Parts: sequence; C-alpha cells; structure tokens
Amino acid sequence: MAVYANPGQPGSVVSFKPRYDHFIGGEYVAPAKGQYFENPTPITGQNFTEVARGTADDVEKALDAAHAAAPAWGKRPPAERADILNKMADRIEANLELVAVAESWENGKACRETLAADIPLAIDHLRYFAGAIRAQEGSLSQVDEDTVAYHFHEPLGVVGQIIPWNFPILMAIWKLAPALAAGNAVVLKPAEQTPVSIHVLMDLVADLLPPGVVNIVNGFGVEAGKPLASNKRISKIAFTGETTTGRLIMQYASENLIPVTLELGGKSPNIFFDDVAAQQDAFYDKALEGFAMFALNQGEVCTCPSRALIQGGMYREFLEQAVKRTEQIKQGNPLDTDTQIGAQASNDQFEKILSYIDIGRQEGAKVLTGGERADLGGELAGGYYIRPTVFEGNNSMRIFQEEIFGPVLSVARFDDYADAMKIANDTLYGLGAGVWSRDATTAYRAGREIQAGRVWVNNYHAYPAHAAFGGYKQSGIGRENHKMMLDHYQQTKNILQSY
Ligand code: NAD
Repeated sequence: MAVYANPGQPGSVVSFKPRYDHFIGGEYVAPAKGQYFENPTPITGQNFTEVARGTADDVEKALDAAHAAAPAWGKRPPAERADILNKMADRIEANLELVAVAESWENGKACRETLAADIPLAIDHLRYFAGAIRAQEGSLSQVDEDTVAYHFHEPLGVVGQIIPWNFPILMAIWKLAPALAAGNAVVLKPAEQTPVSIHVLMDLVADLLPPGVVNIVNGFGVEAGKPLASNKRISKIAFTGETTTGRLIMQYASENLIPVTLELGGKSPNIFFDDVAAQQDAFYDKALEGFAMFALNQGEVCTCPSRALIQGGMYREFLEQAVKRTEQIKQGNPLDTDTQIGAQASNDQFEKILSYIDIGRQEGAKVLTGGERADLGGELAGGYYIRPTVFEGNNSMRIFQEEIFGPVLSVARFDDYADAMKIANDTLYGLGAGVWSRDATTAYRAGREIQAGRVWVNNYHAYPAHAAFGGYKQSGIGRENHKMMLDHYQQTKNILQSY
C-alpha cells in the first residue's frame, strides 16, 4: 500500500505548471484571445492550474503547423515512425508514476487503475501500432497478361481528433497511435474537464516527434471542438464522446464529406445464466467480481456493465452475494493505492448521477445498496464521491435505458435464454455486453446474438490493443484498436499498370 502525496506537496511525483497553453508546432502557444479557464481536481474540488481557452484562431494555427509537418511525416519510412512510437512508449513507461498520478489527480480516478491499467494499456497501444505499421503490406494482383493492379496505403494527411474526460490519456493514445503510425499529422482537442494529462505526457515525449506532427488545442466543445470538426482543412474527424455530440460531429463532417470515426455512449447488459451458481467455486467468485465491475473507473466507462440481467433460478441468492461484494469495494482517496473507487470526474457529472439516483427512486426502482453521495471528510470533503449504487427494477425504466455514466447499476431478472436476449437488445445502444455461463454453447450463442461490438464472455473490461472495439446501433461508427484501425487513417491508392 502507498499513498501518493498531493501534487505540489513535498514528496509528490508530480508538479503541475500554474498555467497550460496550447501545444502547437512543438511549442507552447498562448491562446489568441488571451483567455484561460480554471481546472479543479475532483479529489478535493480545488483548482490546481489554469488552461488556455481555445477558439477558431487557435485551431487554424494548429492546422497550419499540422499541414506544414504532414508531408514529411507521411513520407518517413514506416520503420522510422514505428521507432518513434516505441521510444514514446519507453519514455512513458519510465515515467509511469508521474503520468498515472497526474491523470488520477486531474480525473479523480483511483491511481491503482491508472498505474495498473490505463497507462500500461496506452503504452501497449503505441507498441502495437508500431508493430502493425511495420507489418502492413500492400498487394499486387495480375489483371491479365500485360496488366497488374497495385494497392498502396497512403496517409490521409491532417486529421482532427476530439476526446472525452473519462480516460484522458488512454483515449488520446487510442487515437494518436494509429494516426501517427499511418503517417498523419494530428490536431487533438482534449475534454475541457481533463485537458492537462495529455500535456504532462507531451512534455515527456515532445522532443521525439517532429514539430507540428501532434498539436493540442484546449478548450470547450462549441468554441474549440466545432471549429476543428467542421474545418475544411482536415481529412478525417475521429470523435469519442456522447451520442448527441456524435450526431453533431457527423453533421459537420458531412459538409466537407470527410470520414468519421464515432465512439459513443452505451448501456451494456451483463448477463448471468443460472449455471453460474452450479458450484460456489472460483468461477462463481469471478462472476461476482464481474457484477461489481459497474463501479470500475467510478462507472465512467462507455462500456460500463450498467444493466445486470440475472436468471430466475439463482436470482435472489446470486444478487444477495453480488450486493455484498459491491459493498466491499473500497472507496477513498484516489491517490491511495488501496482505493478501488475514487471521485466522479466533475461537479456536473456528480450532480447528473445524483439526479439519476432520484429518478430511479421516483420510478419505483428499489435501492439495494448505496444511493447517496459518499462523505469522505477531511480534505476530500469537497470532492465528488458517490457510493456504488445497485437498483432493482425493470428494463423499461429510464435508469435501464439512459446512460448515467456513474457507479449506478440497474438489475433485472430474466426467465430463459430468449428472455435474456430480448432484454439485452432492448436498448438504443450496442457498445459492450457481458455473458457469464459455464456452458460454451450458451455463451457462444449469446455472444453472437447480442447486438454489440464487444461481447466479453466470462470476463469483463479487458481492452487488449489487438481486439477490435466499437459500437453497433447508436454507439458509434467504425472501430478502434486492432490493426484494421490503420484503414481508418489511410487512403488506398490503386495503380492499374500495363507493361
Ligand atoms: P461529450 O460529447 O460531452 O464531449 C466529448 C468531447 O467533445 C469533449 O472534448 C467536448 O469538448 C467535445 N464537444 C462537445 N460538444 C462539441 C461540439 N459541438 N463540437 C465539437 N466538439 C464538441 O462527452 P463527454 O461527456 O466528455 O464523455 C462522455 C461520453 O463519452 C459518454 O457518453 C461515453 O459513453 C462516451 N465514451 C465513449 C467511448 C467509446 O469508445 N465508445 C469511450 C469513452 C467515452
């Protein structure tokens, strides 16, 4: 067990600058309009730095830098680009605690997660795409005796990327790694709630990249995100965020006829079949653990298993034990490595979750545990903490249909396999799902029948770089991770040549 000192305090592994500007053309650049906004830590609610408030002028400056850098970067041999991505990964790995604690402080999440999962996954994504670009091959096929068709991969040029606040560094690297590997220059806008983590990371790796290949413009959605997403000088926009914002992004992109990748919201079912309770063994324990995963990252995960569906034969017994398991989740100071659930990322998010807890009660759902803010006292008293909450209700309720994006689980009973599939697919979303069964046939059938881009079977919340990730229905368009991602950042050039 370790408790990291608060940034700025003696012994801390992180010290933030009092002010963060935009990162453009390899250097920090003050905002054109000279405005800054405050950045509070959700751990105590206190401001810890201020951040440049970007506008269209800043976006244009970043696009100038990106366009200047893109041609040379795109022409670098894949092995050289891969080498740079690997060096970035090594640099981050050597500074793991600095990056992990900085992100935890800015986002409120438990540092045991940033240390063990978020940052190591980001490092692995860089290495994966360094390998993928070196392994990518074009093709040649004979059309007739005199003619061949060659297919080449070319970078798109300059791409825009807009990310949310729930995994500030992982979401940035999910987007940057394939884009850079494929030879593009990038203008990225972080979320206004968590702009600084990516700057902490850029401070570590900036010298490895040619100036202008990665540019970061901070700011708010309409002021900085819209001028980027609707800009005629980008060849693609990649977005992760809410479904409602995703619709706007697609409208902007349609004006310029550029491709979009949209990673949007979810309301993922986590289905527990009766055979889980056949024995009280390690598998059973793992399923209980899988149930409690709704609280991972404070529930602020697009694939949060926020609807648990439990089969009638074991319903009461399993639910009782699963609620007990939920009550063992340790809530506390996010900088304590024993803490499993920290603070919600912002005051707005905190208020939104509490209002959904009220809605659940008004709808007649029963609170089995939690249902209130957690008052942790001391310096954490001003932070945004909510107790993991389990509701029992039915799938027509708003708490089963709308994305809450917090540690709030809605549980319903199902009778048989067909009933489970009906409830699981009765949602606008289709991002993630979990299936728990000892029977391989049941698990396989359910995995195929659930309309979601990622189905975890007998596990949950694993995100290896080589597994494709993305949404069905209103959860998005396109995929991230997996080497197929390179196709989302490249043009295919065909040359049909006669000899
Ligand atoms: P959001 O849509 O409010 O904001 C996301 C980003 O979009 C922010 O950077 C914001 O400034 C920007 N933005 C807002 N309005 C904009 C506009 N009009 N034009 C351009 N940019 C704009 O989402 P959020 O609240 O930050 O993130 C939470 C959401 O993200 C949840 O719905 C969650 O499910 C989703 N999410 C999805 C995935 C996935 O991979 N599918 C991963 C993480 C989060």
